[in-house]
Amino acid sequence: MKPAKFDYHSPTTLEAAVALLHDYKGDARLLAGGQSLLPLMNFRLITPAALVDLNRIPDIAYIRADDGILHIGAMTRHRALEFSPIVAGRLPVLTEAIKLVAHLPIRSRGTIGGSLALADPAAELPMLLQVLEGEVVAQGPNGTRVIKAADLFEGIMTTTLAADEILCEVRLPTPSPNAGFAVEEYARRRGDFAIAAVTAIVERAGAQCKKARLATAGVGAMSIRLTAAEAVLEGSGLEDEAIDGAAAKAADQVSPQTDIHATADYRRHLTGILTARALRRARSMH
Ligand SMILES: Cc1cc2nc3c(=O)[nH]c(=O)nc-3n(C[C@H](O)[C@H](O)[C@H](O)COP(=O)(O)OP(=O)(O)OC[C@H]3O[C@@H](n4cnc5c(N)ncnc54)[C@H](O)[C@@H]3O)c2cc1C
Repeated sequence: MKPAKFDYHSPTTLEAAVALLHDYKGDARLLAGGQSLLPLMNFRLITPAALVDLNRIPDIAYIRADDGILHIGAMTRHRALEFSPIVAGRLPVLTEAIKLVAHLPIRSRGTIGGSLALADPAAELPMLLQVLEGEVVAQGPNGTRVIKAADLFEGIMTTTLAADEILCEVRLPTPSPNAGFAVEEYARRRGDFAIAAVTAIVERAGAQCKKARLATAGVGAMSIRLTAAEAVLEGSGLEDEAIDGAAAKAADQVSPQTDIHATADYRRHLTGILTARALRRARSMH
């Protein structure tokens, strides 16, 4: 199928793009990599009056490290993250996660801003934003504002971004260099969206677990932090018994959905299994 008729604009500044979004009063969509937007339009699941193309705006694709934070421009392609030495050196958990995103052609065009703005519940990048307690910068008609990961996602493919706001930068704190990490995912085929996924980041202090962070993908309306499981680890350490306790809490905390790919019960079961697996692998790193 072909999309319904739409206007096309390719502004060269963020300000002009925001002004166009504002003028269309919520009936325009930003075009980033187009990997999800165009299929949605081709199936006529959405019929925006206009597309505002971000691809001709200079300086919104970059990866910079600064004071323990990675700053990533919204138009940075998945493939650039995958091969970035800065990401590999400072945030290897992102290098691991990005390889699980779709297939090569989609990674070549898809962008970090597009993925976070789309907020697919089964996508890996929202899970990374959550587990790292990152934030995004959004630009709108009244300037910029910073939105914390915990405040960005509202539900299935829904964020707190306004219709005339552009997500322009992603900020990801880099964990301590001696933190262990792991991304564990179950998908039917390599490159498919996750049926369930869990990312773990743990910092040890001797036998204690100084800090544990866990987040999900695929097991609810949006990625969430597994806070009850984190508390078990921070209270009891990273021995097998604590990991098994955390995995049980993780399975309890999620509210998965049943769909054609898997039942809610199966997703809940996978959450426990993947949590334990991710924690054991993260623990073994240091
Ligand atoms: C077959 C297939 C398999 C896939 N598998 C996976 C997978 O396993 N894991 C995964 O994570 N993803 C997967 N994806 C999604 C893909 O990774 C893209 O990241 C995703 O499509 C969105 O990125 P994009 O740059 O293409 O955004 P677009 O498709 O251009 O835009 C998506 C939405 O976000 C809005 N938007 C885009 N940029 C911005 C911005 N800067 N500010 C505000 N709003 C914005 C658009 O208006 C649109 O509504 C898959 C896609 C396909 C087609």
